[in-house]
Amino acid sequence: MPWYKKLHVWIILGLILGLAYGIFAAGMGWGQFTKNWISPFGTIFLRSLFLIAVPLILASIITGIASLSDTRKLARIGGKTIGIYISTTVAALIIGLVLVNVIKPGASVPEAVRVELQADWGGMAGQRMESAEEAQERGPLEFLVDMVPDNIFGSASSNRNMLQVVFIAILFGISLLLLPADKSRPLLSFFQSLNALVIKIVQLIMYIAPIGVFALLADTVTLISQDNLSELWGLLGALGVYMIVVVVGLLIQMTLTYGSIVKFMTPMSLKRFVFGIAPAQLVAFSTSSSGATLPVTMEVTEKKIGVSEEVSSFVLPLGATINMDGTALYQAVAAVFIAQTIGIALGFGAQLEIILLAVLASIGTAAVPSAGIIMLIIILQSINVPAAGIALILGVDRILDMCRTVCNVTGDATVATLVASTEGQLDIQLTGEA
Ligand code: ASP
Repeated sequence: MPWYKKLHVWIILGLILGLAYGIFAAGMGWGQFTKNWISPFGTIFLRSLFLIAVPLILASIITGIASLSDTRKLARIGGKTIGIYISTTVAALIIGLVLVNVIKPGASVPEAVRVELQADWGGMAGQRMESAEEAQERGPLEFLVDMVPDNIFGSASSNRNMLQVVFIAILFGISLLLLPADKSRPLLSFFQSLNALVIKIVQLIMYIAPIGVFALLADTVTLISQDNLSELWGLLGALGVYMIVVVVGLLIQMTLTYGSIVKFMTPMSLKRFVFGIAPAQLVAFSTSSSGATLPVTMEVTEKKIGVSEEVSSFVLPLGATINMDGTALYQAVAAVFIAQTIGIALGFGAQLEIILLAVLASIGTAAVPSAGIIMLIIILQSINVPAAGIALILGVDRILDMCRTVCNVTGDATVATLVASTEGQLDIQLTGEA
């Protein structure tokens, strides 16, 4: 296929142009113009993806489970999936903690910069802390309670409730599987048809992806810089080492953990995997939301990587909502960084607590932009680090959110590939383009 017909080439172009435009516009003070005339196209793209996320989760999980031969198979695939998800999250946390303890990015922040950051971002930190307040007052098992909705329409009405939608879908799928065939057939056909419809809609939405990605990037850069590029460079300089630690950690997780899983534990060629997953990574980077990226992740994991629909339709929606390795790694680094900057020593026990809390937070974090920072506040409070410390890192959070979302999405696709391979459901002969 010629290069100009490849969608990911256009998405990369949109991304680079969006970034370049954003920097230029920030320098020219075009923030308001960008907000009025460019950002809406990004919002339309993001909304279209979110629009189909809930029907996609419902239709794909229900048809995925209901077409399994029996509940034992579901228990096997489900157990395997959750086990691998937790293992990759723990691996990410260990990488993050080792890096932040060895490099000590907090030690390089001068006192004056710390005071300035807290003064500049303290107000916004206060808002975030209010959102976290409610969550922090609840008991340790509250996250389990949160998974079970008391109203189907209530859950479907907010993209923050995707985990509840997953719960409903699993319940429907299992019940359909247990019904006699003549009773389940009509509903199953309905959801199969809905599934096909949603996949078609995803393909249509992807035609506007390059424009959407351009607009999202342009919007993000002008928003972060607030028409003041020199301030942005200053912020990046002050928090540079911290950002490098997070990004290097994410890269290690993606190359070492995911790379080894794909290379040594599946028959999949690493090249096919890397090229196959690229469009989903680009959308994740631009939208900062694994929920919004889910439709694209599913499309490429099936069509380009060769994971069967049976596996991807269950493993990926579950992963988008409960598996956030990038978020967990970032939370660990950020928590220790804040403690280092404020001058609080965190012992081995506190760091173990971070691992435990971040694994739980990864399950509870909504797959939407900036959700990870709310959970970070809860982690900070549990290890007795003042939560107001998030003011130190808020300025660059959006940039790191984009990066950690790429890792989250790649992790989901890696686990789907591994599960499919162990189930004999990975088509490595796939004739699609690598
Ligand atoms: N934006 C992330 C995601 O959707 C979650 C987070 O870390 O804020 O995967």
